[in-house]
Amino acid sequence: MPHADTLLTHATVVTMDPDFRIIPDGAVAIHGQVIVAVGTSAELEAKVDAAQVLDCGGKALIPGLVNAHTHASMTLLRGLEDDRRLDVWLLGYMMPVEREFVSPEFCRLGAKLACAEMIRSGITSFADMYYYEEAVAEAVAEVGMRAVCGQTVLKFPSPDADSWEDSLDAARGFIERWKDHDLIVPAISPHAPYTCTAEILRACAELAKEYDVPLHTHISETAQEVEQWRETYDMPVVPWVKKQGLLEAKVIAAHCVHIDSGEMHTLEHAHAGVAHNPSSNLKLASGFAPVTQMLEAGLNVGVGTDGPSSNNDLDMFEEIRLASFVAKAVTRDPTTLPARKVFEMATSMGARALHIDHLTGSLEPGKRADLALVDLNTVHNLPRFDRDPDAIYARLIYAAKSTDVTDVMVNGRWLMQAGELKTVDVPPLLVAAAEYAKKIDTFLVEREGSVLSKLVAIGGAEQQESYEVQIKVRLDDPDDVMDNLVHGPLRIIRHAHYLEYDNYFEFDDRDQGRLRHREDDFVDDKGEVTNVRYRLTLIGPAAEREFPNSVLLSRSRFIAPATLGLRFYREYFRPEVEFPVHKDRLRWLIQFDGVEFFINIDRLLEPRLPDSFLEIKTRTWSRRDAEEKAERILGLLNVLGLGSAEVVPDEYIQLIAE
Ligand SMILES: [Zn+2]
Repeated sequence: MPHADTLLTHATVVTMDPDFRIIPDGAVAIHGQVIVAVGTSAELEAKVDAAQVLDCGGKALIPGLVNAHTHASMTLLRGLEDDRRLDVWLLGYMMPVEREFVSPEFCRLGAKLACAEMIRSGITSFADMYYYEEAVAEAVAEVGMRAVCGQTVLKFPSPDADSWEDSLDAARGFIERWKDHDLIVPAISPHAPYTCTAEILRACAELAKEYDVPLHTHISETAQEVEQWRETYDMPVVPWVKKQGLLEAKVIAAHCVHIDSGEMHTLEHAHAGVAHNPSSNLKLASGFAPVTQMLEAGLNVGVGTDGPSSNNDLDMFEEIRLASFVAKAVTRDPTTLPARKVFEMATSMGARALHIDHLTGSLEPGKRADLALVDLNTVHNLPRFDRDPDAIYARLIYAAKSTDVTDVMVNGRWLMQAGELKTVDVPPLLVAAAEYAKKIDTFLVEREGSVLSKLVAIGGAEQQESYEVQIKVRLDDPDDVMDNLVHGPLRIIRHAHYLEYDNYFEFDDRDQGRLRHREDDFVDDKGEVTNVRYRLTLIGPAAEREFPNSVLLSRSRFIAPATLGLRFYREYFRPEVEFPVHKDRLRWLIQFDGVEFFINIDRLLEPRLPDSFLEIKTRTWSRRDAEEKAERILGLLNVLGLGSAEVVPDEYIQLIAE
């Protein structure tokens, strides 16, 4: 006679075993961490010697749900900055705040709150990806949930590492320490192809293979990512990551919203699991993952909530309902993704996607006791029809709510009983979370008040010389001037021709200065663009002006590379006014009287003006030096034959553009 610690009886047992057995008056016996028997109540009551028998009162007994993708600790950032595009949200807000606040303590606290929320929605296992993943693992293990915990690796400095090599070392240590844990499956998480490099992906895959642990990453979440890959590498994302050896690891690929059928087969061939995150994809308008086709291609597709700041909750019942509804609407086929299929994605198939199906995902003897009781006898879920036993899937997917989950067990231990969490004390955690929220609010209020701080937050800005010596004149005949320039006494050091596309952002508070996004298209002798450069320059208002016609100005200038595209900066900085200035620019670096000056001859393309303009410029850190250069600039003007040209203010073109 099998012995058991606990015998759960009189439940509708939804086994999710390979035969999708449903046992109407069913029972499950648990001994230690493991399920030892599954059958009818009568059968198990007769044959199992149980220390404790619990009558489930006709509730549904289901395998614990598998949340295939999340960033648990981000519960602390929930609702921080919503209704933004993914890049602005992630690079403009999440990552800068994370760099400032994320610590082991932050991760532990956030993960515990996430566990409390997930247990309440019947989740027993999840795949996580975040910083200080060891702190996450500790919190999860303490609460008693099961998780695949992925230590993040990024190409830029992250909250827990100065370099990707450091993250990789941290991941190795973390995997070493946790690889034999009962609840935690340590993993490595190169964040995404666009936040990593080929070298990082290769190193992560090697580490994952060495320890035979999962590799959890984001793949093709947005169309923009795929476009960028096609442009840069002439292929979509999946074949590219395959080339880097990534698919040799046990991959968990989150999103896969924009992959084609060839990529699906490549992933399937590599036994990669996919995490489908309908709420996140809808909220961030990333698109509709081709779930039906992925399933047809034989892929294991799980369902994930994604992080609590892109969802904004960790409610699996909402997620599985959406997964089904969205697939039906997108394919315009109500027969697609039926309830049983979606429930499979949230349980046994989800476990396969996470490479933990030997442990969890179904109610079968030998598997760990990860399960939940769901009360389906509620006003929103009655009456019930017994003609087709499979109708229970529809009740679970279409009508049940996470609040109907009453009891949750993981690894043989009750984490919730009769709606009461047994291993997390939530109120003090919420107090601590509120303290973080207050600090983050203060930080963002301060940062949002300064264009410079915002510029620094997204990747560093360098201060340039603070004195500008410059003069701008209107040209009647540029050819005459060029003749003087080339054949005169000036020494030409460099010459270039480019098309300049400037967009000026102006803010309510004029003291913030102007932010200029500049695209320089370098043009060769044949008129073809050979090179493109993007830059952001924050130009402070002139603090002092000297000499007539603003020849000498003192003001701050900060420059930063602009790698993210004008649209990003527009949405991130939210200028009050924006205006474009496009020019065809001929530029010389010359030496005159021992001083180097830039000479620009600009033809205005937008706003379109009939005249050309000549600018002479130089910059310096020292006032004395600036004054000396300002003396010479008028002499230089004479050499160019422009002694009587009309001098216009530096901001002349911008004033017209505005
Ligand atoms: Zn994610």
